[in-house]
Amino acid sequence: MTVRVVPLGGLGEMGRNSLLIEGEREAFLIDGGMMLPDDYMVGVDAVIPDFSPLREVGEKFRGVFLTHGHEDHIGGIPYLVRDFRVPIYGTPLTLELLRGKLEDWGLEGELECIVIDEGEEVNFGEFSFTPYAVPHSIPGGVGFVIRTLEGVVVHSGDFKMPSSLTETGKRVLGEAREEGVSLLLSDSVNAEVPGRAGSEEFVGGRLRDIIAGTSGRFIVATFSSNLARISEVMQAAHENGRKVFISGRGMERSVEVGRKLGYLPPGEEIPVYPVEKSSRYPDDEVVLLTTGAQGEPFSALFLISRGEHRHIFLKGGDTVVLSARMIPGNERAVARLIDGLCRQGARVVYQGVGEVHVTGHGCREDLREMIRMTNPASFVPIHGEYRQLAHHADLAHEEGVENVIIAETGDVLELKGGRVFLNGEVLVRRVMVDGNGVGDVDDQVLKERRDISRSGVVVVSMGLTSDGEVLDGPEFVLHGVTDGETRKRLVEQVREELLEELPHLVRGRSGEEVREAVRVCVRRFFRRHLQRKPVVIPLVRVS
Ligand SMILES: [Zn+2]
Ligand SMILES: [Zn+2]
Repeated sequence: MTVRVVPLGGLGEMGRNSLLIEGEREAFLIDGGMMLPDDYMVGVDAVIPDFSPLREVGEKFRGVFLTHGHEDHIGGIPYLVRDFRVPIYGTPLTLELLRGKLEDWGLEGELECIVIDEGEEVNFGEFSFTPYAVPHSIPGGVGFVIRTLEGVVVHSGDFKMPSSLTETGKRVLGEAREEGVSLLLSDSVNAEVPGRAGSEEFVGGRLRDIIAGTSGRFIVATFSSNLARISEVMQAAHENGRKVFISGRGMERSVEVGRKLGYLPPGEEIPVYPVEKSSRYPDDEVVLLTTGAQGEPFSALFLISRGEHRHIFLKGGDTVVLSARMIPGNERAVARLIDGLCRQGARVVYQGVGEVHVTGHGCREDLREMIRMTNPASFVPIHGEYRQLAHHADLAHEEGVENVIIAETGDVLELKGGRVFLNGEVLVRRVMVDGNGVGDVDDQVLKERRDISRSGVVVVSMGLTSDGEVLDGPEFVLHGVTDGETRKRLVEQVREELLEELPHLVRGRSGEEVREAVRVCVRRFFRRHLQRKPVVIPLVRVS
């Protein structure tokens, strides 16, 4: 037989990680994440993997294994489970985060969730999955050793610092190495970054130093899923005699889940209060935990930066720490956020000014170590844009891996007798989600949206006889074209011009042709007067 490994997302792009692994009688998906839309995808909420190849897999599809609870790994699952009812395997935190998502969708009853444990093999006929715990920026992350009839595959998950794997993790990978790893699939996010990723404890130390040197309030923004970071902040607050306040639903939920699963100190030890109570305490007793480090509009931190938050008004002496990575594409929003916070009088510490964040992904030396620990016959870099995959591939060459393949989303990899090769591709679309619509926004719709957003819309409405006599109108509605004064003047002019031209436009033409002629005439007018090309919609009735 042949084992097929097909990335449905995440290779040659950042996000929507999802990998299909398929044998003769069984097939599994590893992760089903979402991706943030590109700027050109106007109005799109998210991009998810194209799960349609699973239809062909059909009855063989036995389940989804999740590496961890980040959006780029579980964000597409709600869309998947609407069409495919298969068990979902994950660690307790990952499944808890997924359940929270499904509850929002009213889908929580639909799912069979199966808890996996580090070192505990989940065995099927053709495949077995053995998870091992990995350090990452969210707890509960795992990689997998996957045993197939054609060879051993290691899927790294998102990881850093392979040297600090647990004893069980080292044993699981050690055994795989003994048997011989046919294929290593490894996280490429930081393949361009030299050195090693830092540890959470290091950031914890920095945060402690900053709190100790702050006389005013101490505000920390981080991702709500980074429970290790949240725990560090809670401990640091506690040690400095400060109380912890939280803001935002995401943060509240994280604290609840983190406590339930033992990732955060219990409430009796370090209580947490809602932000509105913070004003009752002196400034030097307040630590506020919040989200919004990406400058997301209307997040608590965004409102604080504009002086519009209901409970927190910054002043001199307050310190704000952005303890998170700046997601590429958010640079301007974050810069505006920092400007706003500074303008309110706070001291702002962020990446570049202070070492208040560490990455969750292994850097080059970590990645090198992973290759050495598994000693694979074949290597395929995953989880990265093309340049990151290319850098990671170079690293594998440096390490003397025999067979290094750069694959992209949709490429088909085949594993046979321990050998891996590329064999064709499957069609994998970028499935865009907008509101309730999944996949109904395509390139044509995006083009229409961009056209409208660039120069606005002009609707022209009129009724004509087939001889060209005007029965009503023309009326014009302009949206997003120009301001009130200019609009008034231009509408008068364009009406005049259209009426003048009308006899030529109508003569000998069908209704459809008249509409098109009116559209062109109006569009030409705006182009001439404003150097703009609004979308013109002619509502012309010819009777
Ligand atoms: Zn991750
Ligand atoms: Zn990831």
